[in-house]
Amino acid sequence: MIVILKPKPPAAAVAELTEMLEKQGVRVDPVYGTDLTILGLVGDTSRIDPSRVEANRLVERVMSVAEPFKMANKLFHPEPTVVEVAGRSIGANKIAVVAGPCSVETEEQIISVAAEVKAAGASFLRGGAFKPRTSPYAFQGLKYDGLRLLALARQATGLPIVSEIMSPHDIELFAESVDIIQVGARNMQNFDLLKELGRISKPVLLKRGLSATVEEWLMSAEYLLAGGNRQVVLCERGIRTFETYTRNTLDLSAVLAVKKLSHLPVLVDPSHAAGKWWMVADLAKAAVAVGADGLMIEVHNDPAHALCDGQQSIKPDGFRALMEELRPIARAVGREL
Ligand code: PEP
Ligand code: MN
Repeated sequence: MIVILKPKPPAAAVAELTEMLEKQGVRVDPVYGTDLTILGLVGDTSRIDPSRVEANRLVERVMSVAEPFKMANKLFHPEPTVVEVAGRSIGANKIAVVAGPCSVETEEQIISVAAEVKAAGASFLRGGAFKPRTSPYAFQGLKYDGLRLLALARQATGLPIVSEIMSPHDIELFAESVDIIQVGARNMQNFDLLKELGRISKPVLLKRGLSATVEEWLMSAEYLLAGGNRQVVLCERGIRTFETYTRNTLDLSAVLAVKKLSHLPVLVDPSHAAGKWWMVADLAKAAVAVGADGLMIEVHNDPAHALCDGQQSIKPDGFRALMEELRPIARAVGREL
């Protein structure tokens, strides 16, 4: 961190600021120029709040040199993290594919979709039991019954389950009943939820917030890691931009940014990004080509009658075709599917 002081600062005030900064555990190296005085802060600056330093009337500007996330940072953890779940890996050479309906609707629906996506090569089943809907009048999910039906689908197919949590009160139950706990875009900055999930050792899939920067997203991952939970998987699902043709704008450059900045694996969800079923396959291919560690795809047996997100759900036969088309793309970038 670099602190640029206003011209001609009084020496006593500089000494006072230096002491205040050193109390926070860093070494302060001053550089006296002809016009400006600059303080270089050396050491772990993660506990120094730049806005508080900038509030000091002596200070012109504070520049952060290092990223504010430490445990999510590739600099301090160069080896890629591989999250192991029920005999499957996320972040290893094989592309992890999570597929299934937006919401669990009936026993027949979830078991039949699970069997179809498994046969096509998916390694995880997704299904929302608790749904974060914009309208309070929209289908809110089957809730606890949905979790029960997911468990039946896992029993029937052997596929590990990914499902979204909305409340910290349900953590114990989720930890028992699902294999990966999903934190949805709307809860990416629900810090109380993240802190609680940091305390358990269950894998967490952290979706990018609707308008979150890559840094904010990685800071949310930092909450989980700092709490002691090392099994964190990120998921890019599109961000809100001025463009309204698509539901969101899929930010594939975020995959590259995360790969550069962090050791955490990253999936791409083209379904929630596009909001249009006919875009899903091509965006999924682009995601694999760009280096995503996996995909999350909404698959429904009868999208026209889906209780949630039918417009962006592909059918099982489309999913099967997509998996075949993805194989050569994965091979071309040195991965397998
Ligand atoms: C979902 O995966 O069903 C979902 C609601 O996604 P997001 O949080 O990305 O909107
Ligand atoms: Mn959905």
